[in-house]
Amino acid sequence: MAHPILDLFPAGAAVDPDGTLTIAGCRVDDLARDFGTPAIVVDEASLRARAREYRDALTTRWPNARVVFASKAFPATAVQRVMVEEGLGLDVAGGGELLSALRAGVDPALIVMHGNAKTTEELRIAVEARIGLVVVDNEDDVDRLEQLVPPGVVQRVLVRIVPEVASSTHPHVQTGQVGSKFGLTAAAARILIARIEASPVLDMRGVHAHVGSQIMDPAELAAAVAPLAALGTFPVYDLGGGLGARYTYDDRPASVDEYVGALLAAAQEHLPADAELIIEPGRSMVNGSAFTLYTVTTVKRDARTFVAVDGGMGDNLEAAMYDQRYEAALAGRMHDEDAEDVVVVGRHCESGDVLVDPLRLPAARVGDLLAVPATGAYTHTMANNYNGYRRPPVVFVRDGEARAVIRRETWEDLFGRDA
Ligand SMILES: *Cc1c(COP(=O)(O)O)cnc(C)c1O
Repeated sequence: MAHPILDLFPAGAAVDPDGTLTIAGCRVDDLARDFGTPAIVVDEASLRARAREYRDALTTRWPNARVVFASKAFPATAVQRVMVEEGLGLDVAGGGELLSALRAGVDPALIVMHGNAKTTEELRIAVEARIGLVVVDNEDDVDRLEQLVPPGVVQRVLVRIVPEVASSTHPHVQTGQVGSKFGLTAAAARILIARIEASPVLDMRGVHAHVGSQIMDPAELAAAVAPLAALGTFPVYDLGGGLGARYTYDDRPASVDEYVGALLAAAQEHLPADAELIIEPGRSMVNGSAFTLYTVTTVKRDARTFVAVDGGMGDNLEAAMYDQRYEAALAGRMHDEDAEDVVVVGRHCESGDVLVDPLRLPAARVGDLLAVPATGAYTHTMANNYNGYRRPPVVFVRDGEARAVIRRETWEDLFGRDA
């Protein structure tokens, strides 16, 4: 019988007769030999399929609509390029993501820029690149843009509002509630909208809201539509991102179809029929297309059985920061029977460096490969050098071929900024 964890891996995952996990025709032991571990492995076909699924779900039902990928979930140029090739725009938060979006070849008109603390430098890059939409979060954004936009040029903007809807997700990734640092409440938004409408260099295109992240129930996301509509009639409504991804056997996020259906039902009820709609999926776009491959470095059978791997909170902060639960498997021994309860821990000097707890595994041995599925979102982007850790590569696999789209950091890279 196929290992149940295959459901959590990308569609291209399978198991060879000897019990080795394969992805898009590549064996994980070959990937480990060629690229080392840890490595973030992306099934490119699955990533492309998800992008098309989103695009088709939205535009077949609301043709005047577009999907922009929230780059921050996986801001690798190669990932952004896949989104561009599949016809999506890119949502960026800050100058770095904007510059990599341009490197990925996106039409600048399809870039949407966010941020609650954009600097003058970042806004200058945005204006000079002629990006499609700057999402204004506060009055200071408008002050800066009015200084930066040259005569004869008009910058299109959206205004971010606080929709004042609560969501059942981790407090650190709720953004639409009263008291959020993002956006403006309705009264303040109305004042700023009037100011922008009077500006000679800004074009008031519409309004934006984002409720939060890892939200399983699309009704919570659709609840932002009515507060957007209450701000007035505009050409554009940007409904944000936030759909949850599946990490564990128990997770049951809405499908893309159910999510888009819920948003469009609310849009039909509240928004003008000729409005342009934008959605900004991040996590749910990329999470399921990737997994992280580690090597077991130590197995300590003491008060508990600690299976320690060669990565951890240096390549995945989701568990430590948001209590994200994962599953994992011994990727070279997929046919072996589970034998013990373990806790999978990382290599970093902190007790919070736990990847999976608890977990049933076959009796782990030093040198085993351990694969954690559903690690496409917010892992690479938050990777860090804690304990002198060299950030892992991002490896794309497709049709039996593998290539590093981002190489592993070297020891020299660690000192590249020393003066
Ligand atoms: C983070 C973010 C997104 C994407 O959220 P996900 O939960 O990853 O889908 C979209 N829009 C804005 C403004 C964001 O800040």
